[in-house]
Amino acid sequence: MADNRIYNFSAGPSMLPVPVLERCASEMLNYKGSGMSVMEMSHRSKVYDGIIKETEAALRRVLSIPDNYKVLFLQGGATTQFAAIPMNLMKTGKADYAITGNFANNAYKEAVKFGDIHVAFSSKEGNFDRVPTQGELDIRPDADYFYICANNTIYGTEYQYDPETPAGVPLVADMSSNILSKPVDVSKYGVIYAGAQKNMGPAGVTVVIVREDLLGNYPLEKYPVMLDWKTMADKDSMYNTPPTYGIYVLGLVLEWVEQMGGVKVMQERAAKRSSMLYDYLDSQNFYKAVAEKASRSHMNVTFRTGNDELDAKFAKESAAAGMSNLKGHRSVGGMRASIYNAMPIEGVEYLIDFMKKFAAENA
Ligand SMILES: *Cc1c(COP(=O)(O)O)cnc(C)c1O
Repeated sequence: MADNRIYNFSAGPSMLPVPVLERCASEMLNYKGSGMSVMEMSHRSKVYDGIIKETEAALRRVLSIPDNYKVLFLQGGATTQFAAIPMNLMKTGKADYAITGNFANNAYKEAVKFGDIHVAFSSKEGNFDRVPTQGELDIRPDADYFYICANNTIYGTEYQYDPETPAGVPLVADMSSNILSKPVDVSKYGVIYAGAQKNMGPAGVTVVIVREDLLGNYPLEKYPVMLDWKTMADKDSMYNTPPTYGIYVLGLVLEWVEQMGGVKVMQERAAKRSSMLYDYLDSQNFYKAVAEKASRSHMNVTFRTGNDELDAKFAKESAAAGMSNLKGHRSVGGMRASIYNAMPIEGVEYLIDFMKKFAAENA
């Protein structure tokens, strides 16, 4: 890898493509003859207007976002949207949630503050080792929306299908850790949102993609203006200062995705990386994969030895071997390899070689 970089398996913030970082470096002091860095630029300037418009256009191309959807660039992380979602989408005050992990549960806990929230599914009993099948979803036909976390970053599970909802119930999805990893039929969703720092760019930008007809139910007289999606849509995400540098980097990441061949190619690469790891895990007995087979994530692969001391030794020795952040989240233990778009295949090969060696030495 370039300049002694290590393979960073962090769940987020995570690896960015090297060509993107090189562009940032080369444009750092003087962006395209403007005489300044993008960081120093007025968000109202003509140059910056070009950056944010092209970033939105690129995202629309990459995800084939239909014209009747707004794209917003916000701040506050995915976690702020946990509250913004019920605030913007509740009409009757009823919403349904599928609880498949820590982030889905945090979203649920925020929503409970705003209305009558029904749990349409929970995998809590199995420590979130799977996502539901369509048949297991118990969605109320009069819910204002149905909420899922599309990829459960901590547990390593991912929906392999777009859940269907009763007629007129919009589907809302947190795609923070799998957006841009595969094509998505946006028209099946009312809202898709994602914090950038997993698969899109640096921390600080949150993308919200929302169908236009869902805007306009926000009680501006009692809630903060900053969380009103319609205000942000009407002002092209510039009601106040947007996260300017993060939006610029997102634009570079999108350019890289397009040069690589788009989200279809991202999906092929993700399938290759994750199946290499899962095939290895399934071929031996030293490590156990955590997630149920049908729910396995292509982005976050969770596994453990079954022995906490060995897991800790794995984390330590893998770091010494040039791989960072393979320790699992504290609520699951074990190990987690986050293998987002920017992770090269060689990084996964290197990890598997290390796993084999570690197993041979410690079996
Ligand atoms: C990381 C993550 C979050 C939290 O994102 P913040 O930007 O830190 O608020 C929410 N949902 C998912 C799926 C995540 O992976």
